[in-house]
Amino acid sequence: MKTKIAVANGDGIGPEIMASVLNIFEADHVPLEYEFVEMGKSYFDAGHSTGMTEKAKETIENLGLLFKGPMETPKGKGVKSINVTARKVWNTYANQRDFRTLNGVETVFSKAGTQINLTIVRENIEDTYGGIEHMLTNDVAVGRRIITRPGSAQVIRYAFEMARRKGYKKVACGHKANIMKLTDGIFLETFYEVAKDYPEIEAYDIIVDDLCMKLVSHPEMFEVVVLTNLQGDIVSDLCAGLVGGLGFAPSANIGDNISIFEAVHGTAPDIAGKGIANPTALLLSGISMLRYLGLTAHAANIENALLYTLEQGIHTGDFGDRSTTSVNTEGFANAIIANLGKQPAKGSVQAQVDIEPKANTITRPEKNKLTVIAPVTKQEIQGVDIFVESTLQPNEIAEVAKTKLNDKFKLIMISNRGTQVWPTGSIYTELVNEFRIRYEKTDGVELSQRDVLGIAAELSDAIKVCSVELLMVFDGKPGYSLAQGQ
Ligand code: NAD
Repeated sequence: MKTKIAVANGDGIGPEIMASVLNIFEADHVPLEYEFVEMGKSYFDAGHSTGMTEKAKETIENLGLLFKGPMETPKGKGVKSINVTARKVWNTYANQRDFRTLNGVETVFSKAGTQINLTIVRENIEDTYGGIEHMLTNDVAVGRRIITRPGSAQVIRYAFEMARRKGYKKVACGHKANIMKLTDGIFLETFYEVAKDYPEIEAYDIIVDDLCMKLVSHPEMFEVVVLTNLQGDIVSDLCAGLVGGLGFAPSANIGDNISIFEAVHGTAPDIAGKGIANPTALLLSGISMLRYLGLTAHAANIENALLYTLEQGIHTGDFGDRSTTSVNTEGFANAIIANLGKQPAKGSVQAQVDIEPKANTITRPEKNKLTVIAPVTKQEIQGVDIFVESTLQPNEIAEVAKTKLNDKFKLIMISNRGTQVWPTGSIYTELVNEFRIRYEKTDGVELSQRDVLGIAAELSDAIKVCSVELLMVFDGKPGYSLAQGQ
């Protein structure tokens, strides 16, 4: 029986590499049926603000699995990336990218005899990818970085489950919790919380800059690394470079209901239409999709044919021995088809059913799922940060801020770009035209939301208020950071 999946060809080189991959699947008699969906740049251009038709959305939601080519995000039209939207809307919370040394793909590490076999699991929904950005003044833009306990727990559990299935011994958490103490702090805290359920796996954390340095000097040290979205994005492209470039970087976006398989690379506009793109990354993504669907024998057969082809030195223009003639996309796919059934000399793969994840079973929920992991028994308002636009000096702003004080509040500090400039600071701290004024409650007072919005409203009579943020304390723990120098 054939399994039906949704396929989007994509833009640029997308249709060329997708056709090659589907030809290889056909040659191996993979029991899949494809429903091609309308998604991509031309659908943006035709006025579909999400970059896909309603029919495409419905098809993908019904089938639960999308195999997609890269898609272009039109620049400067105020539209969001369809790739990011698709991952977020359908809650494909884990982005898994496997990187390993491929014989025939020469890199500095393959030349040195260093074998790379590592998996990056990147959180796929949260972080700065919400794209929640505002200009507070014409000089100052701010972006919201959203990291949540439920989102972190979902992706971290996925990483540990995957590591357990595949017999990995170590899972690392890459982070920057030394600087972003609350956002990366939650991610790191959740990592060690979830790790308790996997005692056989060594769980450790590493600061992301140190991780990058170690990845480029000793990539063999790592097995599985889980990271937040933006850091994971950057680190996984770095890893693509370790194994031969974007042409070899597959990715799976896994959710509980819908999953998306695609290459890491984009539409390669510089080579689109020439028929010379390397289809390997999309093929590797397709192979992991076959495993995910339980078609493990086909996955192994095709992967062995790919490895055999690479070992033979057959290559597209973007890699391999430059002194030998390269083949085009179709030629590369045809070579793989001709090699189906052959085994590579090194690193042949088996159809290991027990280590593969299970495909989703689609159950359409009645309502949107909402998760709260850490309910609090007591939360109180400690004060308020009021962000204002001004070209006054810090002590002058303090004078304005003091005129709005009442017996419920005291003025704690003023900062500029996160650095305290009042009551103490340095004359060498350079300023921009956006300040934060922090008021906290006086002893024994219980503040209401009305109190803090009230003082902001009072302040707005004297100075332009750009935004307001409550200072919360959850079960006695402050839910806000201090200023540098505070
Ligand atoms: P890109 O990945 O398209 O290209 C970067 C470089 O790598 C180019 O020189 C390109 O020729 C080369 N390259 C990429 N894939 C290749 C392949 N399979 N074979 C041979 N060479 C390959 O990145 P970009 O130029 O920054 O982005 C182009 C467009 O793709 C943008 O519109 C971007 O938004 C989009 N994009 C989409 C996705 C996705 O669909 N998931 C991912 C990244 C970028």
